[in-house]
Amino acid sequence: MQFEFATATRIIFGPGKLREAGPIAKSTGKRPLVVTGKNVQRAEPLLKLLRENNVECATVSVSGEPKIQTVRDGVALAKSEKCDWVIGIGGGSVIDAGKAIAAMMQNDGDVLDYLEIIGQGKTLTKPSARFLAIPTTAGTGSEVTRNAVLASPEHKLKVSLRSAYMIPHIALVDPELTYDLPRNVTASTGLDALTQLIEPYVCLRANAMTDAVCVEGIRRVARSFRTAMENGRNEEAREDMAVASLFGGMALANAGLGAVHGFAGPIGGMFSAPHGEICAILLPEVTEINVRALRERDKHNHAIHRYDRVARFLGGNEPSTVEAGIDWIRQLVNDFKIPRLSAHGIKSEHIPEIVKHAKNASSMKANPIVLTDKELAEILQRAM
Ligand SMILES: [Zn+2]
Repeated sequence: MQFEFATATRIIFGPGKLREAGPIAKSTGKRPLVVTGKNVQRAEPLLKLLRENNVECATVSVSGEPKIQTVRDGVALAKSEKCDWVIGIGGGSVIDAGKAIAAMMQNDGDVLDYLEIIGQGKTLTKPSARFLAIPTTAGTGSEVTRNAVLASPEHKLKVSLRSAYMIPHIALVDPELTYDLPRNVTASTGLDALTQLIEPYVCLRANAMTDAVCVEGIRRVARSFRTAMENGRNEEAREDMAVASLFGGMALANAGLGAVHGFAGPIGGMFSAPHGEICAILLPEVTEINVRALRERDKHNHAIHRYDRVARFLGGNEPSTVEAGIDWIRQLVNDFKIPRLSAHGIKSEHIPEIVKHAKNASSMKANPIVLTDKELAEILQRAM
């Protein structure tokens, strides 16, 4: 066995822990650029803490998913405002924007130079500016991952800025920040978290370290997801979902993902649909086709038993088979009223193009078995 595991230098977890942001800000740098979501008001508790600790800052708000221009604007603002480090407070998109801005504050040239597929794919050579990530959703785990997903509207693509230098220095995860999330956001982000725990667990690069966090994360989702949906202020349930999100981020950053995320990237670039909803609707279909392909072509592959174990964790630790696990996920997707792909405007005629891009997606390379074009198309068709 060989593996490497990298995560944030410091992870602070717990209800009410946001208050630590004040002292952290005081000791981390001179003047932070605070990256927030569309509604800056939601960052007010943080801004208040900064004021109380006499930390002056500049703020930039990011609405929707970060675009390449968002990063350029953020870096320019950091420069004109003389900011030397970054705080990101918000959902995955905000944290990703902050990560990319922190990276480009220290590296020369334009962000496009460093992007895969649409840019020159150069390697970031200098460590990012200090970055404190404070997630306000429980889903992406972006606070501990090494990439930022950026949209290029003119290419109709989403691409990643990626480097080990981009892992946030400090991840501050306070489940209280998720108490008032709307149900649909709890559902879609939670389903992303679940996908980001199952895919690394069955993927080609799974290792003992990522296995440990995946198993713990899946168990917590299984016992708490429905409660978090029914009662957003249930402390234990929100805590479990926040742990699951964090652990999913750790797992995917160190093991990789699979076909669900291989599809989610290109679909997200072509259509505007919440990432978590895309993952959720594809997860049972990908699982079913993966298992069928494994049984047909690679029946000694350990992923088959791993899928059975996932079903066992989902079902409260009773011995189980993958079929029961797929049913469990389908029921959840159904109960949470997750729309099918067609609801986002995706039609059969789009399948060849999605398959073409998905095949080359980096996440697809970690899928436990190489799927044929026909199988990939079948997955999409079933999720329509
Ligand atoms: Zn995801």
